[in-house]
Amino acid sequence: MGQVKVVFLGSGGGRFAMVTQKRRTAGIRFLGDSFDVHLDPGPGALVHSWGAGLDPRKINGVLVSHAHPDHYTDAEVLVEAMTAGATRRRGVLAAAKSVLKGSESIDPVISRYHQSLPRLTVDVEGGTKFEIGKIAIFGAEARHSDVGTVGFRIETDVGSIGYTSDSEFYEDVCRSHRDVRVLILCVLRPSGEPWRGHMTTDDAIEIVNDAKPELAVLTHFGMKMILRGPDDEARRVNKETGVDVIAASDGMRMILDDTIGISQPKIQNRRLGLDRYLGNDG
Ligand SMILES: [Zn+2]
Ligand SMILES: [Zn+2]
Repeated sequence: MGQVKVVFLGSGGGRFAMVTQKRRTAGIRFLGDSFDVHLDPGPGALVHSWGAGLDPRKINGVLVSHAHPDHYTDAEVLVEAMTAGATRRRGVLAAAKSVLKGSESIDPVISRYHQSLPRLTVDVEGGTKFEIGKIAIFGAEARHSDVGTVGFRIETDVGSIGYTSDSEFYEDVCRSHRDVRVLILCVLRPSGEPWRGHMTTDDAIEIVNDAKPELAVLTHFGMKMILRGPDDEARRVNKETGVDVIAASDGMRMILDDTIGISQPKIQNRRLGLDRYLGNDG
């Protein structure tokens, strides 16, 4: 059995957490034998990759779930890293249609030039299948203010990992994520504080109850969630579902093989202050 490592370079989401960097918005890195993928590289993705000791030039995939800045701002920089400074056509850029083509209200958020650099650029919708290295990845449906938004289901040889991206709750929201081993949920808001297009802890309870993963990870915390306390909200989901649930923290690492191991960074500095955490290998 192989091993997959997941590094939560950021655990913040939404505009207020992003602008203040109360939690980082650097996305999530997935590493295995044949793949090294950066998902949703928001502001800080490049800097915090280096901060975590993860060379961005080694990635062979960039995934972008939708065209909101907390998910895409560093995508072009990572494409340049992945393609050896635009000198080699390599890697896969897979992104929601709104990201690559724009939508009614926005232009494409990754330039046509950068879209032409990888070996393969994929328009992702719910159900779209593509491969990075030896693994298959599927687009998952979502409902969010950017109507192009997709989640992802990453199928590795140690089991599947689901990522909901920003979505509001709807019947069958976890259709693509049933029987995943690890389900990563973007839970912007705490219990009792709904916000259009996003999930609360109450929604997370419904979804986790339906999907029944081995482990659920809550992440993408907005300001209200951060103030309420994501760890307490994770405990609430665990109590209501019986499923193991943890709240992501900036720099948290997860190792999947026949078990799931979690390690938290030694220095929990979640505020901007690069001098204090650059070089911290977490
Ligand atoms: Zn978001
Ligand atoms: Zn969004």
